[in-house]
Amino acid sequence: MKKHNFSAGPCILPQEVLQKASEAVLNFNNLNLSLIEISHRSADFVEVMEHAKDLVLELLDLKDKGYSALFLQGGASLEFLMVPYNILPEGGKAAFINTGTWSSKAIKEAGLLGEVEVIASSKDTNFNYIPKDYTIPSDATYVHCTSNNTIFGTQMKSFPKTDKLLVCDMSSDIFSRKLDFSQFDLIYAGAQKNMGPAGTTLVVVKDDILGKTGRKIPSMLDYQIHISKESMFNTPPVFPVYVSMLTLEWLKGLGGVEGIEKINDEKAGILYDEIDSNPLFKGVANKEDRSNMNVTFVLTDESKKEKFDSMWKEAGISGINGHRSVGGYRASIYNAMPKESIQVLVDVMKAL
Ligand SMILES: *Cc1c(COP(=O)(O)O)cnc(C)c1O
Repeated sequence: MKKHNFSAGPCILPQEVLQKASEAVLNFNNLNLSLIEISHRSADFVEVMEHAKDLVLELLDLKDKGYSALFLQGGASLEFLMVPYNILPEGGKAAFINTGTWSSKAIKEAGLLGEVEVIASSKDTNFNYIPKDYTIPSDATYVHCTSNNTIFGTQMKSFPKTDKLLVCDMSSDIFSRKLDFSQFDLIYAGAQKNMGPAGTTLVVVKDDILGKTGRKIPSMLDYQIHISKESMFNTPPVFPVYVSMLTLEWLKGLGGVEGIEKINDEKAGILYDEIDSNPLFKGVANKEDRSNMNVTFVLTDESKKEKFDSMWKEAGISGINGHRSVGGYRASIYNAMPKESIQVLVDVMKAL
């Protein structure tokens, strides 16, 4: 029996996607060749790349709105640097909302290229809430935020209203809910939380914000080069891109982000209801800022830890230990997580 996989990332993918992906590794498109042993310039793979990019823009409702989708490498961590390289002018300033470990890392990288102003931070309380009071400096070129804080279990429910460029790290909640994605000028996300295997990073960027910094940009870091080469400036990570395409097709079949949002709300509701009604557990994140993707909670009575840990292991649950910087537990319940697995966890919590 497959385990109930609550891992934070890399993490659960739809079973039917894994099935199709493994078939393609052996025999892709009935070519009698593996997906991972054919040229990325072959018609069969070029079609995968085009279809994947097309699905991204379709699911985000950004088609024909001046955006490009890119499948790059280096993870969200390289985007922390690529973003300022591409949109922060020489001598310019970027404004950041610091909501956790990943925001902090993005701040550090942007600081290598220009001035960074942290306009709000929830560091004082170990990032258990989303700060909502801030002033965006008039001399900032862009505002950077992190839509979902994977480690702390908080999620932004609304985004800054600003005439500056708006940049968002959506690594851990992209394609999980309906948003007006056109409010963002640049979105990036490592694939391995809600889209595919590790090894590719999705970037969705508004074309007309590029080419304005006055910087010399190394080719591999230059979005305009990747756009002009259709994400094939160098050999793309063919397997992660293919699996991402399959996951996006799966998502489209469920009714896209609108369809999955309903399912995600229901799934998260089941778990948060148990955390709130069971006196043995307590949620970590501020209630109004709770994430529908990463549910963080602790035991109210630490002496029950050993028993609880053996009970969930016994039930076939995997990956719910909290991040070391938070402790307790973190149930990551991404798009592909079945409701039944959440019910198994809730049943264990009830039985404790
Ligand atoms: C996982 C994660 C990252 C880091 O992604 P890599 O692909 O490992 O570089 C960045 N931001 C957020 C919000 C994440 O969840």
